[in-house]
Amino acid sequence: MGLETFILSMLEFISNIDFDLFSIILGMVLILFWLVMIGWVWIDSGERTSKTSKRLIYLFLIIFLNIPGLVIYLIVRPSETIEQIYWADLERRYLKYETSDLGDCSKCGHQLLPGFVFCSNCGNEIKLRCPKCGVLMSKDFKFCSNCGNQLRERALTEEQYPNVTVMEQQIQATKEHATQTVESKRTRYKTGKSFVVKLGESIISLVRKAKESIPTKIVLEDTLEKRKENSEKEHEKNRVQSVQNRKKKNRKKKKR
Ligand SMILES: [Zn+2]
Ligand SMILES: [Zn+2]
Repeated sequence: MGLETFILSMLEFISNIDFDLFSIILGMVLILFWLVMIGWVWIDSGERTSKTSKRLIYLFLIIFLNIPGLVIYLIVRPSETIEQIYWADLERRYLKYETSDLGDCSKCGHQLLPGFVFCSNCGNEIKLRCPKCGVLMSKDFKFCSNCGNQLRERALTEEQYPNVTVMEQQIQATKEHATQTVESKRTRYKTGKSFVVKLGESIISLVRKAKESIPTKIVLEDTLEKRKENSEKEHEKNRVQSVQNRKKKNRKKKKR
């Protein structure tokens, strides 16, 4: 009996709710949310771009489209804030400075340590001495960083402080350089391929083998794809060969 009376009283309560008042409260909450959203987008876009025209577009998006506009804003807004870009650039510069002495010998591939002037394995000269002041510096330097003496010819261009786009490009270039270094197996430390990638590759090669074993009916359809594959295979072959050649050379040098 207790449950029945409870349900009945619940139904009575629901039927007695003043829906006008309810909709007014709901509307007020929505308007408040809309205003907060507008304010937040204005502040957030200010952290991501310095262009007022862009910020106004984002703002109109929210004003006219409300929540869908917010979703669109979240998709199209720049992924990094100006501050994040600045710190990423600073970090990149600092790490570049910190690791400038680390690397492999260009001749024999032996690992170099900070302070090395000659390769400890093959005697290859890694740093140059400025003929004017005698300070040691990288072979790539065009001018002595200590006395300004010109060491090599160079194309002179006025260097300006990079803007955000240039910074972004530089960061991207560093990332690409890192990926290239790892994937070209120039480092002996680790390959960039994770387990999942390896698994994927083995599945792809299995599928390819299966395709090859199927009679030539389907071949016409994916000639284009095959062409692509072939060029990739050739590329891979060339890469492997060049790595092997390098290894052979190194071996010869070591024997000497
Ligand atoms: Zn060496
Ligand atoms: Zn000098």
